[in-house]
Amino acid sequence: MDAKLQKTLTSQFGPPSEPIDVGHFVQDASNTTAVTSASSSGENEYSVDEIKNALSTVWNDAKLSAYLSKTHDDNVTVCHGGAKSTKARSTKISMEVSNDIAVKELQNNLDGIKLASWKLHPEAALFTRPPRTSDHNTITQIQITEGCIDDSGTPQAVIIFSVHVPVPWRTALLTRSSMHAILSSQTLGDLFEVIPCESNNIPDEFVDEDGNLEYKVNDKRKGSSGHVICIDELAYGDAFSEDDYADKLLQHLKIVNSKVQVRKADTATLDTPLSSLSLKINHPYWLLHQGSCEHFIVIEHIRMKAFSDPTEGFPLTLQITPSQLDICRACAKTPAIWAITGDIRLAESPCLLCGPCWRVMGNPVEDDVTVIPLPTGNI
Ligand SMILES: [Zn+2]
Ligand SMILES: [Zn+2]
Repeated sequence: MDAKLQKTLTSQFGPPSEPIDVGHFVQDASNTTAVTSASSSGENEYSVDEIKNALSTVWNDAKLSAYLSKTHDDNVTVCHGGAKSTKARSTKISMEVSNDIAVKELQNNLDGIKLASWKLHPEAALFTRPPRTSDHNTITQIQITEGCIDDSGTPQAVIIFSVHVPVPWRTALLTRSSMHAILSSQTLGDLFEVIPCESNNIPDEFVDEDGNLEYKVNDKRKGSSGHVICIDELAYGDAFSEDDYADKLLQHLKIVNSKVQVRKADTATLDTPLSSLSLKINHPYWLLHQGSCEHFIVIEHIRMKAFSDPTEGFPLTLQITPSQLDICRACAKTPAIWAITGDIRLAESPCLLCGPCWRVMGNPVEDDVTVIPLPTGNI
């Protein structure tokens, strides 16, 4: 990794933490929890139930929650809009409040909060950004992994991690593609399996009886495929073959005379539980699969598994960013579904086209034109 990329990653994810030995963390935290619960002798000193009840009461009221959402959106817009409009919009908001007694009471309670940082100040605009695609979530409820039941009864840590991919138009920039929760007893292989990726939908290439190249679109997600995950100076391979992804990565680094210090790990990803690793929070770990598809895995936080956590279904999928499909190069409106190679009527090869644009072009003039279906956004 060159210095420029390193700088970009640090600015995107923040400074990384010290390495956290996940196994030791689980041991220490479970001992500390045992001591704390013994000394507190059943008292619930740190309960947040009161706050939760107050929040739920307001949030479950459609009128109050709608008012809060709208006020928040208005305040954020004003914050980005500048000082002049702030005065005008604030006046408008306060006039709307006075129309309803319940809303007015809520606003009075909010105004009575003495915490100075509670209100959104105009200076906050310097530290906020407009919404991005990666803030959206295509799933409406948490997705579980079938067939995974944790009935060991031993203390476990829950590790929340996000997955980032380079944006197509500028590979030095990364965008979050998904977020997941995994248990410390699960392996790097489990972590890899849960990551959704459009590359898994790349159609299979085969030669038909007439010797022509054909492509078969696989609707279902393909099973385990080759991969390598780099954690610090160790490359964890898939061990699916004698010469696995980790071996191929090392061979490639040798060929290009890379100065990157990486050696192959003793265990494969499927045999490496996360509890055996030391992980840094906010540090991107590199993953490569499907030939050239790379992802960065960032540990967001590590905490002990609570009673309220599900007992089965880990690794969980918490968020998936809507996929951004390539637009047709001819009409520049519809998402492309075909990649055309070797057609002299098109300005580039491969050329991405939508269905209608490719149809109106008619049959190709040459024989060696290849029409390849593009992966869909359904992952
Ligand atoms: Zn991928
Ligand atoms: Zn088109």
